[in-house]
Amino acid sequence: MIRLRAASATDVGLVRAYNQDQALIASPLFAVADGMGGHAAGEVASALACEALGEAFAQAEIPSAEALRNAAQRANRAVFEQAQANPEMRGMGTTLVAIALTGDTDHQALAVVHVGDSRVYCQRQGELSQVTVDHSLVAELVAEGQIRAEDAERHPQRHVLSRALGVYPTVEVDLRVVEAVAGDRYLLCSDGLSREVSDDHIASVLRRLADPDEAAHELVELAKTRGGADNITVVIVDIVDSDVLNGDDADRQILDGGFAASATQAMPALGRNAAVPASETNAGRPDRGERRRAARAARGPRPRIVTVRSVAFVIALLALAGVAVGGIEWYGRSTYFVGLSGNHLVIYQGRPGGVLWIQPTVAVRTQVTRSQIEARHLSELAAGMVEPNLDAARRYVSNLVMEEQKAQGVTAP
Ligand code: MG
Repeated sequence: MIRLRAASATDVGLVRAYNQDQALIASPLFAVADGMGGHAAGEVASALACEALGEAFAQAEIPSAEALRNAAQRANRAVFEQAQANPEMRGMGTTLVAIALTGDTDHQALAVVHVGDSRVYCQRQGELSQVTVDHSLVAELVAEGQIRAEDAERHPQRHVLSRALGVYPTVEVDLRVVEAVAGDRYLLCSDGLSREVSDDHIASVLRRLADPDEAAHELVELAKTRGGADNITVVIVDIVDSDVLNGDDADRQILDGGFAASATQAMPALGRNAAVPASETNAGRPDRGERRRAARAARGPRPRIVTVRSVAFVIALLALAGVAVGGIEWYGRSTYFVGLSGNHLVIYQGRPGGVLWIQPTVAVRTQVTRSQIEARHLSELAAGMVEPNLDAARRYVSNLVMEEQKAQGVTAP
């Protein structure tokens, strides 16, 4: 039996004045929408899309994959009609990604729908893969082989969508059905995350933080440290095997398994001894509780064997773990990098994006602002400029300032 555990986080980012993203958590349905349109229209579009999607899916007779696709069409219609009725909202639209657990308890699956460049990722056994393909101009150019994937991120028309919800009376909604596998983790996000944070860094956060709420907030913060140029919204959905999670159930399974193995040893005579009449066998057959107690008594206390070798093995294992932890700590904290925090340049100790549990910490918060350095350096700062030590990081910052001062014709002090 599958259970879902979900959390979301959203932030306006560091540049935009309004948050036009919207998240929906209405288990077993989850969605992210990224609205667009002048004034408040983008906010209206994304909120309306999530509301209409949730209502339509809840009203479906059978919560199937097709019902999810129909709900997305209803959301499209709701946004389109609102735009038609309000001339100041004409042309508004939104992206939409949504996943829903469908089917009955015997055969559960996840339906995934999407329109636009918001994304769904799946992390299975530590490996992250993108489930959706962006409906954007650059994604189509990459698919056609006209540009390389690495050039797409810098393409001047990278923001142009090839499909959006609410712009026309109907829209083509992509639908995928994937197996619901316990242990899988799904990430739904707006492009405010995927443009700022690489897939590798997203994967590292998803692996490191088991709590979906912590992971969602960490991803949003990471996007902000990389520039936060757009609104950022994240929904994380964990597929959990409820039999494993539920302590009582797990306990019972273990007990039943133990009993089945031991009962035959404890009471061999009851069924096999010919001297005992069948009727008496049945009449005298203990009930389930008694048999369980008898089995436990027959097993007796579990022997505990502690040898010198096993103690030495445990000590060696602990020493090895200590060396590994020390090595990772050294690797995670031995360098510095220069990045942006809001408008200021900040020197961090650690590595961009962190290493496992080791997050970068602020070493020096400089007084240097974005406007004091040449714009061409902003992207390397957004990614985090790694330097071998603190002095080198300080030199890098003062070089940037001097370079800009020279460009402005100002003599450095
Ligand atoms: Mg966006």
